[in-house]
Amino acid sequence: MTPTTTPAPSSRNHLWRPYTQMKTAAPPLEAVATQGTRIRLADGRELVDGIASWWTAVHGYNHPHIATAVAAQLAAMPHVMFGGLTHAPAERLAARLAALLPGDLDHVFFSDSGSVAVEVALKMAAQLWLNRGVAGRTRVLAFRGGYHGDTMGAMSVCDPEEGMHRRFGAWLPAQVFCDLPGTRAEADALDETLRAHRDGLAAVIVEPLVQGAGGMRMHPPETLATVARLSRAHGLPLIADEVFTGFGRTGTLFACEQAGVTPDILCLSKALTGGTMTLAATVARTEVFEGFWSDDPAAALMHGPTFMANPLACAAAEASLDLFAREPRLDQARAIGRRLAAGLEPLRGALGVADVRVLGAIGAVQFARAPDLAALKARLLDHGVWVRPFGDIVYLTPALTIEAADLDRLIGAVAGVVAGQDG
Ligand SMILES: *Cc1c(COP(=O)(O)O)cnc(C)c1O
Repeated sequence: MTPTTTPAPSSRNHLWRPYTQMKTAAPPLEAVATQGTRIRLADGRELVDGIASWWTAVHGYNHPHIATAVAAQLAAMPHVMFGGLTHAPAERLAARLAALLPGDLDHVFFSDSGSVAVEVALKMAAQLWLNRGVAGRTRVLAFRGGYHGDTMGAMSVCDPEEGMHRRFGAWLPAQVFCDLPGTRAEADALDETLRAHRDGLAAVIVEPLVQGAGGMRMHPPETLATVARLSRAHGLPLIADEVFTGFGRTGTLFACEQAGVTPDILCLSKALTGGTMTLAATVARTEVFEGFWSDDPAAALMHGPTFMANPLACAAAEASLDLFAREPRLDQARAIGRRLAAGLEPLRGALGVADVRVLGAIGAVQFARAPDLAALKARLLDHGVWVRPFGDIVYLTPALTIEAADLDRLIGAVAGVVAGQDG
């Protein structure tokens, strides 16, 4: 239990870091500037960013169009409370999201993070039943391998075998878990589980097309369509958690589009502001919204974050949507996918590689055995890239604007550490 390195005094004394054993973890690298798909460190090194800061910076860093929009909003009105007041950035952003999202996903509730967007979705589903006068529907059906955030409700629908679930299990509401219905037998099992738990369920929650933080596990659109069909058949609202997949990551603006599915509630966050500000949205279909439309004040949706619809964040998100409209982001995402497939597929069959998966601008290599993550991270840094393997996965989710040369550098680094050819 001796520390492998001495942490920087500031880290040891004041900063508590994410998912980090403060005693033994290597000290974090100090970033001083970003530009495009590069991160500059205090020691002068410049890294090619392979993961776009947890999948947020889809246009690359420091895009001038977003910077200009935020600066103008900062001068006019950085923030104003949302209770009793409204403002143009929120009004416009909500209307633009509604226009882009499938079907009648038209009613936008803003919050600050993906986890909270999921909490709001769960609350929406639960209160919808209460407003309809139906008691006892308190559980959610979620899928094994899923990740929906770190707050209590969100944790309760994460994969039940995963570490946080085990640790906090006693505190979490008990949910119902199933495998994603990739096969006929799994579809029958889901159908059976939905039937068995029918009167206790409020909703079904799914990450469409790819379970991200749970291990970059991908499923075909047919699987998502089966989830939607069975949810509907059992009268349950479907919550699509597009916090990771939203805004082009899978090659379409939203992953649900590929299955022709309109979920009842949809969660957005990560890339919503192009990686600049913290903002999230929980978007409901009209039928859900109307479940709260009443003369009874107690039927109102009972949620309201202090920084709800922060104007700076809304301005950043609007500017990000401008870029999606003006620039060929989806073509770029698909081109990245083709290059990732060409570069990573040859690793299939390499010693120690269990699987290679590519979908949209996501490429993942799964190892047969969990690697020494600290050593792996160090070797990736030696290649001049910022890539963060976790569990038995090393993956690339670069900015959709990445240049071919930088993408090849990322692919080369992953291939290098996988093959162990880099010494
Ligand atoms: C990251 C993520 C969340 C949580 O978002 P935070 O902003 O970290 O709270 C929820 N769902 C999915 C699918 C995610 O990838």
